[in-house]
Amino acid sequence: MTTPTRVLVLNSGSSSVKYQLLDMRDDSRLAQGLVERIGEETSRLVHTPLQGGGAKREKNGPIADHAAALKSVAEELAADGLGLDSPELAAIGHRVVHGGLRFTEPTVIDDEVLAEIERLVPVAPLHNPANLTGIRTAMALRPDLPQVAVFDTAFHTTMPESAARYAIDVETADAYRIRRYGFHGTSHAYVSRETAKLLGKEPAEVNVIVLHLGNGASASAVRGGRCVDTSMGLTPLEGLVMGTRSGDIDPAVTFHLKRVAGMSADDIDVLLNKKSGLVGLCGDNDMREIRRRIDEGDERAALAFEIYVHRLKKYIGAYYAVLGRVDAVAFTAGVGENAAPVREAAIAGLEELGLAVDAELNSVRTDEARLISPDYARVAVAVVPTDEELEIARQTFALVGGETLGGVNA
Ligand code: ADP
Repeated sequence: MTTPTRVLVLNSGSSSVKYQLLDMRDDSRLAQGLVERIGEETSRLVHTPLQGGGAKREKNGPIADHAAALKSVAEELAADGLGLDSPELAAIGHRVVHGGLRFTEPTVIDDEVLAEIERLVPVAPLHNPANLTGIRTAMALRPDLPQVAVFDTAFHTTMPESAARYAIDVETADAYRIRRYGFHGTSHAYVSRETAKLLGKEPAEVNVIVLHLGNGASASAVRGGRCVDTSMGLTPLEGLVMGTRSGDIDPAVTFHLKRVAGMSADDIDVLLNKKSGLVGLCGDNDMREIRRRIDEGDERAALAFEIYVHRLKKYIGAYYAVLGRVDAVAFTAGVGENAAPVREAAIAGLEELGLAVDAELNSVRTDEARLISPDYARVAVAVVPTDEELEIARQTFALVGGETLGGVNA
């Protein structure tokens, strides 16, 4: 009998599903794809077989809901001989954005776990309902298969209360579960571990500041493999300047806008989440475009870049102080991996902290994890490509591995 070694990773958004099928024997990718604009007339499925030399396939036309989307995904996989009914499939791993305080580890999903994820909807109204739909659909398709939830918040549950609590009335905070949860945890976990590997050390031996700079952006302070602080809070709005989110802001801005501009809570939500950050500052949220405009002498783009970098630098300094000793600062995600000028500007002037960037190393373009600090620097500066799908697949497989290899399915 075949030992199941494949894991399907599903990342379900409100109108999209991203997926990857991996073989955990060697972490190789067998296929990946995306269904977008679910529920619209113009839905699109893009499927890429990654082994056997097949070409990318695209399907356009209405896909009514997540169930239909997943059915189409299953058909595409089956066409490559990788169907969901394959005995080689060990489990399905689901990205779940909010796990609250209860889920500190990846968890095999059952009715009780589903109910708890549902209970967290009020603190993650945009994400958890979509994640739940994806899980329920996948469970209907393969009810016999272990399905695992991997939570974005889990890595941050090790934060001490001093970092996790807001300084507000404790009864109010507890009644409404208001505290700092943090997000992008899968990425922070993966990147902090890979950074230790790059330094030739165990995660327990190193202190790392991870800067996950994508469209959403967050920083974390990781001591000996455990998160001790992170920049996102109750929601992914807090912290760094992002593509369209303001990050840190005086909370009084919200009631000021309500009083003087007559804006509703929903208006302010849209303003701070969708119309702020780089987009609000200069109209663009793509760092490539912003750099191009700066090269052409555009002052708004230049100011947006300065504000972005200023905030980043403040967090590097803050987390340096939180950790006391820092072994590495690691840049990751779209901006962190690709935008050399952001890395250079964020580290510039921090020589007294033992931080420096080597211009030549910083300009190298590669997908490999690498150091960009000069030999003499006391603290390593690294670029470490994140891989949330691989991390979800690893955590999922580790959780069901015993079961599938030695248990009921063997
Ligand atoms: P998401 O949060 O959507 O997962 P990503 O991690 O993919 O985001 O990052 C997307 C962002 O990365 C883009 O908006 C852009 O600003 C930035 N980016 C991607 N490629 C480059 C590049 N070559 N140079 C500079 N910035 C880049």
